[in-house]
Amino acid sequence: MIIAMKPTATLREITAVIARLEDLGITPTVSKSDDATIIGIVGGKKGVELAPVAQMPGVAQLVETQSPFKRVSREYHPEDTVVRTGPLTLGDGGFAVIAGPCAIESEQQIFDAAAHVKRLGATGLRGGAFKPRSSPYSFQGMGEQGLKFMQAAGRQHGLATVSEVMNVRQIEVMVRYIDVLQVGARNMQNFDLLKELGAAGKPIMLKRGLSATIEELLLAAEYVINSGNPNVILCERGIRTFETETRNTLDISAFPLCKQLSHLPIIVDPSHAAGRRDLIKPLTLAGIAAGADGAMIEVHPCPDKAFSDAKQTLSYEQFGLVMAGVAPLVEAMRLAKS
Ligand code: PEP
Ligand code: MN
Repeated sequence: MIIAMKPTATLREITAVIARLEDLGITPTVSKSDDATIIGIVGGKKGVELAPVAQMPGVAQLVETQSPFKRVSREYHPEDTVVRTGPLTLGDGGFAVIAGPCAIESEQQIFDAAAHVKRLGATGLRGGAFKPRSSPYSFQGMGEQGLKFMQAAGRQHGLATVSEVMNVRQIEVMVRYIDVLQVGARNMQNFDLLKELGAAGKPIMLKRGLSATIEELLLAAEYVINSGNPNVILCERGIRTFETETRNTLDISAFPLCKQLSHLPIIVDPSHAAGRRDLIKPLTLAGIAAGADGAMIEVHPCPDKAFSDAKQTLSYEQFGLVMAGVAPLVEAMRLAKS
């Protein structure tokens, strides 16, 4: 249910409606834009119980919403959500780049990567310390020691850190060291994890599941927001299709669709989508053209020696070439939209 206030509604009228809802045991979501205030309500209240609210001064109308996700939807929250942490901002109309290795492998590797991605224009540093590997015999990540190195590297170079949390037990250690907690594709529907992340107090980057629909992605985000954490960043990282030339298929429709359906920022991960270096630049640029708020790209001091995802990982030079294409396209898109 949504309560649309009249454009002429005063602050006093809006406050009175909120107070009335709180008396009814409802915690409303208030969303203001230049010309309207929308008050969203999630929960079991029926139109009948809310009928007196419809009569209050300043209220334009009560609207029953159709969408299966509530707090994530544009209907509830018309203006874009902007997620900020340190130097990283997503959703403000700009384009932010998060870059770094697939996995943190050593102190030297993550410090070196941090220095170079910063120099080339990134504002976020990525790197996994807990790695979801297909084989139990593959490198599983450095764990807490890796997180310590990453925190130090991020601080030294002025980068926000992004790393994957694989289960509820890891949340405590992750929040101690990391700025943005990533939920990987394989965990997108780990509902217990999503609920616990509602109390993490850090932004959550939610990657689309390997075979998840856009609705399922948005419902997964709803779990996090509904549990108390509004700072969710969506990530399109490709989905499984019959195509074998690429590791996954980047779903370019996801960007405009998510923007239409939701107020949350969405980024492109061309690395896990393509699974190969030569497609990182075109897929990054395609993401920008389709409305992405940022990108997350795998970069390593020596890509061929990366412990994981070597084939899709860029050298600093290759990353620099991607970044050289990003800036002019972001500017062109700004002009195209205005
Ligand atoms: C990653 O970003 O390192 C990762 C494992 O990605 P995904 O969960 O999208 O496969
Ligand atoms: Mn990877």
